[in-house]
Amino acid sequence: MLEDKSQELTPISKLGEFGLIKHLTENFPIVQSSTKLSIGDDAAVIDAENQKVVVSTDMLAEGIHFNLGYVPLKHLGYKAVVVNLSDIAAMNATPTQILVSVAVSNRFPVEALEEIYSGIALACNRYKVDLVGGDTTSSNAGLVISVTAIGLADDAKLVKRSGAKPNDLLVVTGDLGGAYLGLQILEREHSVYLANPNMQPEMEGYDYILERQLKPEARTDIKKKLEELDVIPTSMIDISDGLASEVLHLSDQSKVGFNIYEEKIPMDETSISTADELNLNPAMAALNGGEDYELLFTVSPSDFDKIKNHPDFTIIGHATEAAQGNFLIARGSNQLIPLTAQGWDAFLNKD
Ligand SMILES: [Mg+2]
Repeated sequence: MLEDKSQELTPISKLGEFGLIKHLTENFPIVQSSTKLSIGDDAAVIDAENQKVVVSTDMLAEGIHFNLGYVPLKHLGYKAVVVNLSDIAAMNATPTQILVSVAVSNRFPVEALEEIYSGIALACNRYKVDLVGGDTTSSNAGLVISVTAIGLADDAKLVKRSGAKPNDLLVVTGDLGGAYLGLQILEREHSVYLANPNMQPEMEGYDYILERQLKPEARTDIKKKLEELDVIPTSMIDISDGLASEVLHLSDQSKVGFNIYEEKIPMDETSISTADELNLNPAMAALNGGEDYELLFTVSPSDFDKIKNHPDFTIIGHATEAAQGNFLIARGSNQLIPLTAQGWDAFLNKD
């Protein structure tokens, strides 16, 4: 990671807390007009004008959410921001500001934090959000990154998890399962490396799913695409924990059931071939894998024509009366399999 750099590493204590924050945040320009006051005062000031303020926070802990054995620090910084922006996008809002807090043990030098903040800066630039605050502190063990994201939206355009009605169409953006399968490859190659550090990792041909895992993107582009189609979803959520779990959240909050069709679940070819290689059912990776950060939403059946041939959207099912429950309709049969957030492995493993 950093050990092979020839330069001397700088202990965090050399800069002190205030010097450190100043050093890490000096290359973050302000691009949002709603940011009225940023880092340097006691608090930031945001002018929402006539819009609603949407706020979400998410924490990533070393050993729980990431493994520094194979996750580069720059990617970690980028991903920590993206997963929060995804939650703002899931409200049909536009992310505008973030606050970042980092706790590190003294095994991390200043240069490690610089790497993390370079990833954060990349995400801020890509998504046009301002870093307006945060904190750094020491921890006894490990690295923890907490990001709070702020977004703005017109009240009439905000989309909650709770608005789906029976017969609404269930739609997903992009493709699913890739991030989980990318993680399986990273873990496989990492254990090969731990067993024999001279072995070269075999990463060729897995680029797409490795990127889905290490450098996911938030679908902040979808809000504009839906506006162009003149579609306001009736409910929406982002896919952080796997399709099955998110469908159940929409079901719970909207008081409807869902039927989803296994054969409709969009998957990339690399995801399908990697699932085959690992002897997993591809649908299992989509249903239970998580971390795809695509959006899952419902639309009125009257919006079918607007959605059906759009390259970003796939209709994977529909809402039913709540009493009917939540089911996966298996590929090539009409078998109804109750949708649960867990327990898929036993059914969906190929053997
Ligand atoms: Mg979410």
